[in-house]
Amino acid sequence: MSFDTLGLSAELLRAVGEQGYTEPTPVQRKSIPIILEGKDVLAGAQTGTGKTAGFTLPMLQRLNINTANNGRRPVRALVLTPTRELAAQVGDSVKTYGRHLPLQSAVVFGGVKINPQIEKLRRGVDILVATPGRLLDHVSQKTVDLSQVEILVLDEADRMLDMGFIHDIRKVLALLPDKNSRQSLLFSATFSNEIKQLANRLLNCPEMIEVARCKTTAERIEQVVHPVDKRRKRELLSHMIGTRNWRQVLVFTRTKHGANRLAQQLDKDGLSAVAIHGNKSQGARTRALADFKRGEVRVLVATDIAARGLDIDQLPHVVNFELPNVPEDYVHRIGRTGRAGNEGEAVSLVCVDEHKLLRDIERLLKREIPKVVLEGYEPDPSIRAEPVQEGRNGKGRSQPRKQEEGRGRRKYGNSQAKSQHQRSGRGQRRAA
Ligand code: AMP
Repeated sequence: MSFDTLGLSAELLRAVGEQGYTEPTPVQRKSIPIILEGKDVLAGAQTGTGKTAGFTLPMLQRLNINTANNGRRPVRALVLTPTRELAAQVGDSVKTYGRHLPLQSAVVFGGVKINPQIEKLRRGVDILVATPGRLLDHVSQKTVDLSQVEILVLDEADRMLDMGFIHDIRKVLALLPDKNSRQSLLFSATFSNEIKQLANRLLNCPEMIEVARCKTTAERIEQVVHPVDKRRKRELLSHMIGTRNWRQVLVFTRTKHGANRLAQQLDKDGLSAVAIHGNKSQGARTRALADFKRGEVRVLVATDIAARGLDIDQLPHVVNFELPNVPEDYVHRIGRTGRAGNEGEAVSLVCVDEHKLLRDIERLLKREIPKVVLEGYEPDPSIRAEPVQEGRNGKGRSQPRKQEEGRGRRKYGNSQAKSQHQRSGRGQRRAA
């Protein structure tokens, strides 16, 4: 099936062709015609499925058809994303796919100066891609008007809820036209009760679209576990990168501190490495990602949330230096490889402390991951399991994870205000 049959305009087909896409992905096949009809959509699609083009292409087409605005350019489409990186990537997609259309777009997120964003908004944008916190900063400064929004997209909605953005989302919804007067699209990898409640509030008789659910890990990603003692993980990682000649590898750690330490150690081993996490400035994060994409840095060491939304084409290797505390994060991590039909390999280095985490992951995947003990790195059977460091707080996923983004739950309209949440140190369970 080709893109021509989906009802997209010539300008959009041209942009798609220039990207080298020959046929739509399953989520695009399903979502594009429905969104073009103006219907609301509840889509179960994780990152890597081509979901961004799945909503961006029909959104651009609908905006381009209804362009009467007397020379003014109110924001007519709003895309909310959980992280700055994802916002930047969606913003790039909007520009790429919309390059032959006379539509203006902007991206706003925190961690960078607000004035250039204000200036851009003042000149008028049709499509605004935003993270919730910074968007509300603009609202409170009256530098954005959301009353004319025709299309709302919530991207990676489950992540937004995980990160504690529900209150911010509610505030944004209150500023938009009623759900009967706008088109709303919600994309989420998983469907918890919270997501269903949000969908009820947000969507108007939505069409459901489901492709590759979160729990069915992409078959094309080859997964393997190497059992190894904790103290020898770094040595084994350096050995694997060197002997297998991996040129571009994304490595996950549980904590920011762990990410920094590992990047420094790998550097000492002669492997250029850089860490990316929420304590780094936005500039440092963007630079690290750009260096990694260009191949100037061989190893990118990331925490879960910092890595969310990273879109690196044809990333061949993902390593779990430490397993995540939450099994679903494993699926998100390995989803960084094997994107859009490419082959990928996900390697997990698992010490005795992590056996329970591994069992939880296998239960979620409904399959065992092959275990391969590497010669010279056999685990010492006399080592006893110790509790896994979970950061400062206890278990469960109840605490929002917004701290990773460098901002806590804060008082609406006061960007300086530190939240109770932050001050009390809660929500730092993941320490990532
Ligand atoms: P996403 O799930 O939106 O993050 O997209 C994952 C990757 O797939 C991105 O690198 C896109 O550029 C790429 N992509 C999107 N649509 C297609 C397509 N129809 N054919 C090939 N690659 C695509």
